[in-house]
Amino acid sequence: MSKYLNDVLNFVKEKYNNEPEYVQAVTEVLLSLEPVISKNEEYYRKNALLERLVEPERIISFRVPWVNDKGEIVVNRGYRVQFNGTLGPYKGGLRFHPTVNQSIMKFLAFEQVFKNALTCLPIGGGKGGSDFDPKGKSDMEIMKFCQSFMNELQKHIGADVDVPAGDIGVGAREIGYLFGQYRKIRNMYEAGVLTGKALEYGGSLVRKEATGYGLMYFMREMLNANGIDIKGKRIIISGSGNVAIYACEKALQMGANVVAMSDSSGCVYDENGIKLDLVKEIKEVRRGRIKEYLNSVPSAKYIENSSNIPAIYNIKADIVLPCATQNDINLESAKILLQNGVIAVGEGANMPCTYEAATYLIENKVLLAPGKAANAGGVATSALEMSQNSMRYFWSFEEVDNKLEKIMINIFKLCKDAAKEYNCGINYLAGANIASFNKVADAMIEQGVI
Ligand code: NDP
Repeated sequence: MSKYLNDVLNFVKEKYNNEPEYVQAVTEVLLSLEPVISKNEEYYRKNALLERLVEPERIISFRVPWVNDKGEIVVNRGYRVQFNGTLGPYKGGLRFHPTVNQSIMKFLAFEQVFKNALTCLPIGGGKGGSDFDPKGKSDMEIMKFCQSFMNELQKHIGADVDVPAGDIGVGAREIGYLFGQYRKIRNMYEAGVLTGKALEYGGSLVRKEATGYGLMYFMREMLNANGIDIKGKRIIISGSGNVAIYACEKALQMGANVVAMSDSSGCVYDENGIKLDLVKEIKEVRRGRIKEYLNSVPSAKYIENSSNIPAIYNIKADIVLPCATQNDINLESAKILLQNGVIAVGEGANMPCTYEAATYLIENKVLLAPGKAANAGGVATSALEMSQNSMRYFWSFEEVDNKLEKIMINIFKLCKDAAKEYNCGINYLAGANIASFNKVADAMIEQGVI
């Protein structure tokens, strides 16, 4: 390995040894950059490019006090990591989940920098969120929390500064409460400060569907490039949230057969094909558990998670779409997927495969659609929402969907071309890292030492 790469990697591992997810994300990216760095090592070292790339421009960490329905004061922690603004305003979602901590925020923001570069749209990378758990909270509690969160966040964001969006636990409802509070405090209508807004006040058509649809556009391109037709393929999807639901919708439109979906408790397996309208009713309307599927389809099976391998990964499939959370597929799960004949894995979630799992799958010729490329449709459509807000105009569903499809086709091409140029074969993960690194690195050097 190039000495320079090795030095920076060791520095990150030592300095941030209490941030495992962050170290994992940096390791994965840096190792795949070997062919690029070794070609021009002195140039990158002289510019301290990697040292600058792995250090966020800014981390904002703050207290979020709020009052629950019982009148008790609760204190959560809030974060915004403004990782790299070289290509445009920081852009990336907000995650509300009890597991949120600085390591997870940094890994997500780091990944976001490369993902956003791949869209070829003018957006830098950031991420934020809180360890607040929205599960079981009333609407009023969600609103109070969002208002308190925004009381601090508003000091650090703006349409040309930093534009947050949704992620796990943050959907249109939360974005609405956050936007309302921002508007009240700032006393102006700055539609482009948040994306993922409802259609009534500046949201974009297709934003809700974008990440899942984009994942399937990427998957179709990747399969086609390898002479495989998606029609009739058997698919399992982990998660049943925003990304999972709309990946399922597009997969069905493409003629594939989705047989299982899950949530963090377990999965439903419906040999006759998942009834997506029912999943939408359970998750989007009732905010219930995937287990409730059986109340309407008693012939389906529910399998509870009982080990470190989520139950869904024991179900046989041609294509696996992890659309829940990070490190969902470990090496053990990856081995099971391979035994069951998987041909492709599409990362709808961010870093759902551990480094070992991703490496194992690629080495065994499984086509891996890497998250930072395959799930970039969400942020790309967020950038299209920003464009529409700036124009004070809106595009039709077809217009936005067509733009999204073109962006995803181009992202796959970038990954494929970079993989080819650097002799990485079907390693589209390396392709994605290299293509995006080249873009960010060039721009950083052009902007000087800042
Ligand atoms: P949602 O909150 O809508 O859904 C998350 C889903 O994942 C739920 O089914 C949830 O189950 C499950 N899940 C969450 N945490 C865990 C866990 N620790 N173990 C197992 N299952 C879990 O989130 P999204 O669909 O928006 O996001 C899913 C993934 O996609 C995340 O990695 C996110 O970063 C990524 N992503 C999202 C984008 C977007 O536009 N929304 C864009 C790009 C990436 P349960 O209800 O039981 O918690």
